[in-house]
Amino acid sequence: MPANFKAELLACFGQPVSENPTGKMQEAAFRELGLNWRYLTVEVPPARLRDAMLGVRAFGMRGLNLTIPHKIVVMEHLDEIAPEAAVIGAVNTVRREGDRLIGENTDGKGFLHGMRVDAGVDPKGKRVVVLGAGGAARAVVTELVMAGVADVLVLNRTAKRGDEMVADLAMKTGGPIRFETWRGDYRVTGDADLLVNATSIGLYPDTEAMPPVDLSGARPGMLVSDAVFNPPETRLLAAARQRGLPVLDGLSMLVYQGAIGFRLWTGQDAPVAVMKQALRAALGLGD
Ligand code: NDP
Repeated sequence: MPANFKAELLACFGQPVSENPTGKMQEAAFRELGLNWRYLTVEVPPARLRDAMLGVRAFGMRGLNLTIPHKIVVMEHLDEIAPEAAVIGAVNTVRREGDRLIGENTDGKGFLHGMRVDAGVDPKGKRVVVLGAGGAARAVVTELVMAGVADVLVLNRTAKRGDEMVADLAMKTGGPIRFETWRGDYRVTGDADLLVNATSIGLYPDTEAMPPVDLSGARPGMLVSDAVFNPPETRLLAAARQRGLPVLDGLSMLVYQGAIGFRLWTGQDAPVAVMKQALRAALGLGD
């Protein structure tokens, strides 16, 4: 067999990006499957995104992840946007098909996969409360609606942002989405099946912060999940556990969004357990 020393390239573009552990889990997956692929974690300032995307084409890179602040602007530099990503209005994953760069959004799909596989909950028919109206919330709400939930109540501190997000997603999906301004402690009612924190409250280094929600009215069995993955055990999840409620951490969402990306790029099933272990090691957590 002729020698082939050429590596296939992937990257995460963001700013700041140095604390993003995604590369560790993708590289662990490549090693596990014996693929000569490399995943670079690259700091790209907003003013250089256009140049960076030309570089992606020039290098024939196989794909990308995008993080803050590029998830929306990158869409201008792509040849096609997948339907869900178009509804969400943001791209976190790019794959290459021939010479074409195609934008996808795997955040919400990763969350839903974790909900089904790690928490054993089918979203169909469920009543959901989502905290936040940023990029993560948009992705999670879109996929929940597409999966057939019965009701989504979005709470956001800034009314204008929440109102606009809900109006936009309700119009695009026709789904049962409502908005309420989040003022002080929100008391979760007994008819909710799932609570999702899609805000950055509790994210390192602000680990003592807790979203202002009162869980005392939650029904037994209500699933409490957090998009924050660093730390995985947020104060919200600790409070839910104390009440005996089932929980789903942000590592689950992070691993599965990465596993979906891995499949889109390589065409192979991702070694999820290996990826999860690499992530935990990168974040300094035990097995
Ligand atoms: P955005 O900056 O787009 O949105 C942040 C959201 O948090 C807004 O709704 C904002 O409300 C709300 N918020 C922030 N601080 C407060 C506060 N003190 N009180 C009330 N609301 C607050 O961020 P993203 O949506 O991109 O990310 C949100 C979180 O999700 C982050 O922690 C991120 O790491 C995580 N994430 C996890 C992923 C995973 O795979 N596990 C994937 C993607 C994101 P307002 O509009 O009022 O400012």
